[in-house]
Amino acid sequence: MTSGARLSAVPTPATGTAKIALQGVGLRYFTREAETEALSNISLDLAPGEFVSIIGQSGCGKSTLLSLIAGIMPATDGAILIDGKPITGPSPRVGYMLQQDYLYEWRSILDNCILGAEIQGLDLDRARARAVQLLQKCALGDFLHHYPRQLSGGMRQRVALVRTLVTEPDVVLLDEPFSALDSQTRLAIADEVVDVLRAEGKTVILVTHDIGEAIAMTDRVIVLSRRPGRVRSEHKIAFSTQDGKRPAPFVARGLPEFNEYFNLLWKELDVHVEG
Ligand code: ADP
Ligand code: MG
Repeated sequence: MTSGARLSAVPTPATGTAKIALQGVGLRYFTREAETEALSNISLDLAPGEFVSIIGQSGCGKSTLLSLIAGIMPATDGAILIDGKPITGPSPRVGYMLQQDYLYEWRSILDNCILGAEIQGLDLDRARARAVQLLQKCALGDFLHHYPRQLSGGMRQRVALVRTLVTEPDVVLLDEPFSALDSQTRLAIADEVVDVLRAEGKTVILVTHDIGEAIAMTDRVIVLSRRPGRVRSEHKIAFSTQDGKRPAPFVARGLPEFNEYFNLLWKELDVHVEG
């Protein structure tokens, strides 16, 4: 088999067709004592329905970048457009899922899932129906009236995903969503999460420090440099499968290209133990 892993120039969608466009984005944090440049000159286009991952060492600005796209704070330089329109603040079109699940222990699973819909003042009957359908898809159909403490870590993260999707965002931002889980649960949940997000046609940005997760789950991997985060390189991920379809993450990990991409990205990340 020929090597599928190589540095490739990724065709950028023409302006106007990008679901998300980052144009020269920079961010400086100002505190009383110091100014920290977290991100510098990030430009990136995502096509509708594309899954992109962002990897980079701790502190290189990955979470900062997601907060900017989520409209939680404004960029200090450049612009971020969704469907060609500049972001002015948090928007229901963008769903944001974090490492911690932030489920309310006193609310049932179903009631946790409609929280965002309540806050946004959406039709709650519709939200409930959608939550039930998504929970069933995530193999949680028997747990609608359970409480968070009765669920395992992997189940809780799936509930958090459902809650993110109930409000029907078309962009989903995932910030290290599996890092609190044990490695076996991570592998199992990755397949389900990708399945649900692809079926829903979402445009997805996954932030992770796990190279394998990035390769197995996404179409393109963006490597950020150390702080201030800049785009160091990007790699289109492609697997040669018999049916020509993208393999599920677990299957992808067993394909020859996986190791090639892994070695390539490992070198680029310049991982070393600091002592
Ligand atoms: P990552 O998610 O890649 O680990 P972050 O985006 O959390 O990185 O942080 C990037 C840099 O910005 C770090 O050096 C961090 O210390 C700094 N930083 C993050 N949030 C703040 C803040 N609210 N005020 C000042 N500096 C911050
Ligand atoms: Mg982070």
